[in-house]
Amino acid sequence: MSENQRPNFASRANELTIEGRAFINGQFVPAASGKTFKTVNPANGKILADVAEGDVEDVNRAVAAAKAAFEDGRWAKMAPKERKRALLRLADLVEANIEELALLESLDNGKPVDDALAADLPDCIESLRWHAEAIDKLYDQVSPTPGDIVSLVVREPIGVVGAVIPWNFPLAIIAMKVGPVLAGGNSIVIKPAEQTPLTAIRFAELVAEAGIPPGVVNVVPGFGETAGQALGRHMDVDCLTFTGSTEVGRYFLKYAAESNLKRVILELGGKSPAIVMDDVTDFGPVVEQLAMGILFSQGENCSAGSRLLVQEGIKDKLLSAVVEHFRTWRVGDPLAAGTKVGALIEEKHMHRILDYIESGKQEGGRIILGGNRVLQETGGFFVEPTVFDNVNNSMKIAREEIFGPVLSTIPFRTVEEAIQIANDTPYGLAASLYTNNLHTAHKVSRAIRAGTVSVNCFSEGDQSVPFGGFKQSGFGGREKSFLAHDQYSQVKTIWMQLR
Ligand code: NAP
Ligand code: MG
Repeated sequence: MSENQRPNFASRANELTIEGRAFINGQFVPAASGKTFKTVNPANGKILADVAEGDVEDVNRAVAAAKAAFEDGRWAKMAPKERKRALLRLADLVEANIEELALLESLDNGKPVDDALAADLPDCIESLRWHAEAIDKLYDQVSPTPGDIVSLVVREPIGVVGAVIPWNFPLAIIAMKVGPVLAGGNSIVIKPAEQTPLTAIRFAELVAEAGIPPGVVNVVPGFGETAGQALGRHMDVDCLTFTGSTEVGRYFLKYAAESNLKRVILELGGKSPAIVMDDVTDFGPVVEQLAMGILFSQGENCSAGSRLLVQEGIKDKLLSAVVEHFRTWRVGDPLAAGTKVGALIEEKHMHRILDYIESGKQEGGRIILGGNRVLQETGGFFVEPTVFDNVNNSMKIAREEIFGPVLSTIPFRTVEEAIQIANDTPYGLAASLYTNNLHTAHKVSRAIRAGTVSVNCFSEGDQSVPFGGFKQSGFGGREKSFLAHDQYSQVKTIWMQLR
């Protein structure tokens, strides 16, 4: 977008009216308790809005509405082409309001508004459209039987889906779930993260405007331990889809075990490797992708390439190119043109990242770029792009998810050693490999135990490919692609004897 086409986001921000109520059964409502909590702009520490603090009673109301909507078939039994039209209208409405939604996302989360416009919102729209378009194109099966039997294998919606959402890509992750959930004819209750409830609430308004019937989509803002747990334990929630930390993900398995054995789908954290082989000659495109891997979204990205595994012979040369390029990623006001690294989600998270940086230094890591909090005078929570050399894979900064713009460099000698280090982690969400050798590309991408391996790029692919984690990065299914439909449906066999 050229500078003179670019909206003046700062003045648009002042004109915004922000809705903070829950959305239950097609209506905006305050929390049953009347309580609210404040959501903050992490770029300046100022309060953005008071938001309804949903709790058990609100979750009960939302689940009851979702269940009633599911049972009377107002959505599930609507003709597929009508459901498709409604979901496509929702995608069009998101697109029509793209600047406002991107602005709201940026204000609430701290990410550069240009990233929200270029990545989060297009992703959201694409998730809705891709799954909407599938609605009247998926067929069920007739199984091979003797002539006096008719056997159907049909896919049915699972029912009421609870969705608990993280703060890093709020609307994109909501749409990643809403697309296939609604495509399958289910109803949904969404609990956004306490730090970023605003786009979820605005999205709910667009759901109503798109003509999706009341009760099909509900949004209950609130805290994880109360509203999130209530969804996880609810006897009428048939499936719980969660994106967030591995630590919290485990709770949902416990909640399900102690309630109704609801299906649980977990998309969790990662500590993904970016492996650079010494056959790479052109570092330019590689360092751009490495920056995307760890600096995009302030490093608050589940599939962030946070461990740089580099073959010994090229380490020094590659690191100079990394440092030179990372310096061009300007940290600053998320609403300003040219900002590439915005604010971290909250003060506590910023201190967590700074503690990791300190621990890296103490364990022998050598900082070759950054390492500090910056722009403190803004009242916001900013950490500059940081690169460590001299890391080994047993150090804390190589093992734990930092969720910030901090890259740890670990050298290796052989392909086998690279594979061993890459897999030496409890996580398995993603990996990137940079090589000019086709054999190495195939060998390494098959040997890495992760849900997505990208070669010569940092990418999760698009809607057409599944996304999810191996090991402690995921559980129970895959987002995106037709596999996402499987998560939110049941398979039924109908075996019919003909007389
Ligand atoms: P989080 O702390 O796990 O929170 C995620 C959601 O769970 C929030 O809505 C949170 O509510 C809720 N929650 C917290 N404690 C809960 C409890 N005891 N019971 C029920 N719900 C509870 O994660 P986050 O900090 O928002 O996001 C960062 C994490 O998400 C990272 O680990 C990242 O890797 C992961 N992530 C994974 C993917 C993926 O697709 N694999 C994508 C994005 C992010 P509150 O808002 O009240 O905390
Ligand atoms: Mg916020």
